[in-house]
Amino acid sequence: MNRVYNFYPGPAALPLEVLELGQQAFVEYGGQGMSLLEMSHRSEPVEKLVEETEQLLLEIIGLRSGYEVLFMGGGASAQFALVPMNFLAPGQVGRYVLSGSFSEKAYQEARTVGQAEILASGKAENWAKLPDLSQLAIGHDTAYVHMTTNNTIEGSQWTDIPDTGDIPLIGDMTSDILSRSLDWTKFAMFYAGAQKNLGPAGVTAVVVRSDLLKAGNGKIPTIFQYASYAKNKSLYNTPPVHSIFMMKLMLEWVARQGGIAELEKRNEEKAALLYEAIDTSGGFYRGIVEEPFRSRMNVTWRMKDEELEKKFALESTQYGLIGLAGHRSVGGLRASIYNAVPVEACRALANYMRDFAKRHG
Ligand SMILES: *Cc1c(COP(=O)(O)O)cnc(C)c1O
Repeated sequence: MNRVYNFYPGPAALPLEVLELGQQAFVEYGGQGMSLLEMSHRSEPVEKLVEETEQLLLEIIGLRSGYEVLFMGGGASAQFALVPMNFLAPGQVGRYVLSGSFSEKAYQEARTVGQAEILASGKAENWAKLPDLSQLAIGHDTAYVHMTTNNTIEGSQWTDIPDTGDIPLIGDMTSDILSRSLDWTKFAMFYAGAQKNLGPAGVTAVVVRSDLLKAGNGKIPTIFQYASYAKNKSLYNTPPVHSIFMMKLMLEWVARQGGIAELEKRNEEKAALLYEAIDTSGGFYRGIVEEPFRSRMNVTWRMKDEELEKKFALESTQYGLIGLAGHRSVGGLRASIYNAVPVEACRALANYMRDFAKRHG
């Protein structure tokens, strides 16, 4: 098989190693005489798998105590609703930092549940900048502050995480979890749909501080309470067992690479290759996001006109570079360069960009 360079935004590239290990275990798992897909979620091997995957995630992040990991279904989008359902009490306000379309979706979903307000927004600048959070005055009636650490569609990423003091900060980290070191303790909770940096689709990892977990609304349906997942070690009902298994393989791969520190270095190098190709093109390529806010996970740019952008995306496939069209809502081009995308992929894309500019500039 000739593997292409995969720049899809999610579901996204997985390391070949992880796929092959998954394939081996697909038919028979752990000497049990059956596949993991056929195994009761109440069986010991599955309980052990879930437990070990939780521990591994906490180890890689370096959160030693005070937090729990939950595995849930419904994607990151389900979290947009579950966060206010669990934590937005009457008389309180959920305050949202808007930095791109996913954060806006989270905010809109909260409005269907209770009182939600915009704390800061980059929408007026068309998401080309992140809003300034340095002078935040967060009212005492705030249930939580919600932010999106990396804006997958627009291509921006927060470097400074605000300090919200006693008010719980909740982060959607779907598109940059495990891609860089962070002061994770600034967050009372963060979550990530798996299909960008953690494995295939089907499971969402939620990391939540024990005190916030306790404060959750106990009057909503049991299946929607974070506390139900915590109490039952993510086995309240049948979890997406196979997706959790693939996440475990992915986490083990991360550990073998040297953990977050090593991946962060690679991610810096990868992003630098692409931004350099944009910035040295004499205006042939134009970055969509202003420099200090640029993402190291999703690199976005535009060209002179749509015609040329289409041609760029179409021709790129002949070089085995796949998935470069921008999101349908913003257009342009986007290279998603999550942890599993190797440096060579970005080098190949940067070369193609220079070559294409020479031919069409
Ligand atoms: C992809 C993505 C989502 C949506 O995830 P689903 O699992 O499809 O619901 C939400 N937030 C961010 C930041 C994303 O990148």
